[in-house]
Amino acid sequence: MRLLEAGPIARRIKNSLAKEISDFKIRPVLATIQVGDNPGCDSYIKAQKKESSALGIECQLHKLSQVITEKDLSGLIQRLNQDKHVNGIVVMFPLPVHIDHKKISSILSPQKDIEGVSLSNLGSLIVGDALILPTTTAAVMQLLEVTGIDLYGKEVVIVGHSRIVGKPLALMLLEKFATVAVCHIATSEKGNLAKHVERAQVLISAVGRAGLIKGKWIKEGAVVIDVGINRANGKIVGDVEFEEAAKRASWITPVPGGVGPLTVMMLLRNLVEAAKIQRKK
Ligand code: NDP
Repeated sequence: MRLLEAGPIARRIKNSLAKEISDFKIRPVLATIQVGDNPGCDSYIKAQKKESSALGIECQLHKLSQVITEKDLSGLIQRLNQDKHVNGIVVMFPLPVHIDHKKISSILSPQKDIEGVSLSNLGSLIVGDALILPTTTAAVMQLLEVTGIDLYGKEVVIVGHSRIVGKPLALMLLEKFATVAVCHIATSEKGNLAKHVERAQVLISAVGRAGLIKGKWIKEGAVVIDVGINRANGKIVGDVEFEEAAKRASWITPVPGGVGPLTVMMLLRNLVEAAKIQRKK
């Protein structure tokens, strides 16, 4: 078994971003919008800030009240869309229930949507022509590349079908001609999750439930990528029972340290790319 860690890849990407920023003489500006308080979001924003400052990227944080109206939030996004100084915008999800997240995703400028979550960027994934790839899915694809696995015809099982992880990943893997099965809550409720996981040559779990994927379900030699982040017994763990799964897998991501640090670096890579494109205009 080999450990599939984000650290070395993230460092390599960071070095190449530092070079691009210097070669292109740009100082990218990232605007992050946070509505209300959410400890999960705080750690992601902290990581954005830390990596950005090391690269000379300017971070603006727009921290808004939980009771902000949809109209005011839309107004801020529209101002940032127009602001020539700002190169990338991140809206932290989930938003409060009184705000329509689809509407917010639809007004984000696709050129500044560096998380790849706007309806336009997600839609273009269908035709294999995305301007900006969703960050977590891009991180998973990077990790798969490191394993050297040829995805052509491989049995890939994704657990979780969210708009920002499971669904875009399925589309990206189909582009590589993998045979993709996407499992979700109904798969579990019908008692079929183990059956699917057991035949996965590549397993990607993005649910957010500690221990959902039993180690004994993992196929001998499988590549296991655990996107899930859960708090259990005072520790951060993934969705997969790591110890048991590691005995069977050929490659497995640790949690923490597997996908997370790479997701932040993918965000900054998208930002630098966006800044370069915007400067050409
Ligand atoms: P969502 O809550 O949006 O999606 C979770 C998915 O899991 C849904 O499709 C849900 O199905 C499915 N699901 C829930 N329970 C079960 C079950 N028992 N069996 C099978 N499927 C189930 O979460 P996200 O996609 O935003 O995030 C998923 C996880 O990944 C979280 O732990 C999150 O913290 C982590 N994450 C990590 C990142 C990183 O960089 N490492 C980045 C982004 C997320 P249904 O909707 O039908 O209920």
